[in-house]
Amino acid sequence: MSFSFPEEIQHYEKKIYDQRQLIEISRALNSTLDYNYLIQAILDICLAQVQTMQAALFLTPEMDSDFIGPVDSFRGFAFLRPEEEYRIPVQSPLVQLLETTNKTIKLVDLEEPVASQKPMQALRELGVELMVPLKAKGKVIGLILLGEKAVGGDYPDSEKGFLFDLASLGGIAVENARLYERATVDMMTSLKNHAYFQSRFREERDKALKRKLPLALLLTDVDKFKNFNDTHGHQAGDEVLKHVARVLIDSARRTDFAARYGGEEFCVVMPGADEKTARDLAEHIRTTVESMVVNHEGKEMKVTMSIGISIFDPELDARSNKTMIERSDKALYACKHGGRNQVRSYSPDMG
Ligand code: GH3
Ligand code: MG
Ligand code: MG
Repeated sequence: MSFSFPEEIQHYEKKIYDQRQLIEISRALNSTLDYNYLIQAILDICLAQVQTMQAALFLTPEMDSDFIGPVDSFRGFAFLRPEEEYRIPVQSPLVQLLETTNKTIKLVDLEEPVASQKPMQALRELGVELMVPLKAKGKVIGLILLGEKAVGGDYPDSEKGFLFDLASLGGIAVENARLYERATVDMMTSLKNHAYFQSRFREERDKALKRKLPLALLLTDVDKFKNFNDTHGHQAGDEVLKHVARVLIDSARRTDFAARYGGEEFCVVMPGADEKTARDLAEHIRTTVESMVVNHEGKEMKVTMSIGISIFDPELDARSNKTMIERSDKALYACKHGGRNQVRSYSPDMG
């Protein structure tokens, strides 16, 4: 076999280049479990690799949702209708078709009955030209939608092939990110769970030690919550905990993370925060919870919360998570002892 024709050589060089790109993309997509980052990355790769100005991603909002709908970030499309009108049921003939045919589909090539299905009209209006299925474990979990090519004309087979491969990689990456989210987040409160807390906290301690940066740990506990449950019932208690968790999530700085330590005890890990910064945030959380009114089955409910703070000490905390947790816990105990609904930083006289 000889490659004497320059076009032939060029053709294979392009193929090798495309394969290299895919390996790079695969590496990039697999190196993050950040869901939003993945979505942006997939869209950006589409725009960069096939000349179009319009790209959008449709996904099942949750792992077991029964429809595929647009995600917030998209490029170049103008979504004018209410979001519901773009939703494509997972059981719809279009999704069935995408699941069985292993390729990209041009909107104009769709035949009846799929072509006249409700969301198709909305997609046509948007200017969608090409649909690429995003699959995980053989199931369609989303779609990449692309507008017309900037230079006009059809998408060549090579680009369709590339997009299909990209979507296969993207589908697995999105699924992994969701599984990770499920494994690390507490379902009831949406806070990070205990296992995540322990492992991220260890990482943050290491960083604090190596880079000589401060690190603070807030431990929170709802006051007299046994009484609350006894008075209002466990369900009302759960409702309050969800609201309290929301306060922590909303209050945390971009670099902090809030977790459910256990039961009604939550925590906030604050990388880079000194005592003053930690105390300010804790006070903000405490006063927000204090003034919060939760409505449950027609009743208005209120709780208060105590917060203990500890600050990373390289002498004491280099080896384990336990020492800081213990100091926050002692500070928390001092709050309870001192009348509850307060914030205290650990001091050695707390024992
Ligand atoms: P203190 O002010 O000393 O903290 O009093 P407390 O009654 O809150 O005492 P403690 O913190 O020891 O009690 C925790 C209570 O929180 C006991 C438990 O029933 C309740 N609790 C823990 N997890 C949940 C939950 O997920 N939902 C509800 N509704 N209650 C919970
Ligand atoms: Mg408790
Ligand atoms: Mg309590």
